[in-house]
Amino acid sequence: MKHSILELCYLLGSVTFILGMKMMGNAKSARKGNIIGAIGMTIAILGTIFLTQRKNETTGSYEDLTVSGLVYGLIFLALGLGTIIGWLTAKKVQMTKMPELVSMFNGMGGACAALIGLMEFEHYAGDSGALIAIVSGMVIGSVSFSGSIIAYLKLNGTMNKPIRLPSYNIMNTVVMIGVIGFSSWLIYSCSAAGSALWSAGEMSATAQSLLYALFACAVVYGILFTIPIGGADMPVVISLLNSFTGLAAAFGGFLYGNYIMLTGGILVGSAGTLLTLEMCKAMNRPLWNVIFGAFGGGASTASATEVKGAIKDISTTDVAVLMNYSRKVVIVPGYGLAVAQAQHIIKELETLLEERGVEVKYAIHPVAGRMPGHMNVLLAESNVSYDKLVEMDDINPEFEQTDVVLVVGANDVVNPAAKSDPASPIYGMPILEVDKAKNIIVNKRSMSAGYAGIDNLLFYDPKCSMFFGDAKKALTELVAELKTMD
Ligand code: NDP
Repeated sequence: MKHSILELCYLLGSVTFILGMKMMGNAKSARKGNIIGAIGMTIAILGTIFLTQRKNETTGSYEDLTVSGLVYGLIFLALGLGTIIGWLTAKKVQMTKMPELVSMFNGMGGACAALIGLMEFEHYAGDSGALIAIVSGMVIGSVSFSGSIIAYLKLNGTMNKPIRLPSYNIMNTVVMIGVIGFSSWLIYSCSAAGSALWSAGEMSATAQSLLYALFACAVVYGILFTIPIGGADMPVVISLLNSFTGLAAAFGGFLYGNYIMLTGGILVGSAGTLLTLEMCKAMNRPLWNVIFGAFGGGASTASATEVKGAIKDISTTDVAVLMNYSRKVVIVPGYGLAVAQAQHIIKELETLLEERGVEVKYAIHPVAGRMPGHMNVLLAESNVSYDKLVEMDDINPEFEQTDVVLVVGANDVVNPAAKSDPASPIYGMPILEVDKAKNIIVNKRSMSAGYAGIDNLLFYDPKCSMFFGDAKKALTELVAELKTMD
């Protein structure tokens, strides 16, 4: 009976995960989707704690486990601590720091999968199927753990330069092949009859030590895999590591015959893979290039194009006049909009312009900001209508008919070097083609580079004017100026 209820809990959990993920595909229903998924996860966790039974292989019936009060106490202590830490971190985190949080949480998921492997290995001597699941989950989880920690350090600026060891591509590939070879050999040796590493269902101490050595190799590979990667390619890596963690968890589900772990892992793995593919498309990186850690292979972080020309700045009054007499304005939001928290004032600007008969749209680049969908979430906070958010491929043909493009805190996603400078690290990345508009106004605080750390040719375009200042302050002044105009 207990076992059937547990199966029902897992089914319920799986359905809520799928439903929740579907709802997260739309900003309007995302919050609800997240809550539904969390409810499903709670049901699955409580079901696992209170309803898990052991199958009696002889009779085929399920029997209760003997769990002491101390074990229950420890489980709930760990759950309580995890919940408090997770809750406080998620409450406190700024939107711009989300990718760091995702990396850290992802790393913890990888570490859990690795720990499962390290603990369960000794119990499955001679069982090749289980050992494949254990060793695969441990290796993938370890790579995901150390890779995510490096991604975290890169995102928060602690490791702000890619570290490229000599011939790192070759070295990484050799280490990867070495880890796969070592894993395969260990699985084989711990399941082949007559092996010195186990006997009568008992792992030898040497087998355990070899497992720890493999764990260390996988951790090192995770580090080597992530350190050469340059700034602008980080989103792809984060989502790839996310899919690794999902895969590692799915191996755990396979090992325990736990359907919710299997479903959850497969969902995270496949969602991460799909996101990776989408990101690759958005950043024009072939997937094999991602997998073999060859990003930016040796490309310098500075553009080879010598930046020529002068920049010109523009006053608040001139921006207001230009916009007031435009027919069509396209706003390009970027990371700086999120930093300045200028989403509410930008909505006010949109309303004001529309009251004056100006058509206003927002151009959304897939990797604008610091996480996928960052700009959509930010603008949704200030109730910008979803119909006004136009994806890159749809807005690009419209720039030629646009009177004014207002770039707010965006930089890399509008850099023409991505199309014109083969030596640029972002060469090939599709961009918002704002240089085709009649007038370009760029709001940022200085001439500093964006995330990719490179100069932006757009700022030197004769059609471009720099509207310097913090986005919130500059737009507040612009709105005030517009209000004084008829
Ligand atoms: P960028 O990082 O290229 O540029 C942001 C610009 O905002 C900076 O040049 C900065 O200039 C300006 N800025 C910062 N603070 C303010 C402020 N308070 N007011 C006004 N401007 C400000 O941003 P984009 O959105 O154009 O590009 C995103 C980049 O991040 C891409 O390279 C992408 O690959 C990468 N990335 C994307 C992720 C994703 O999933 N979306 C994840 C990780 C990285 P200044 O200092 O002069 O003000």
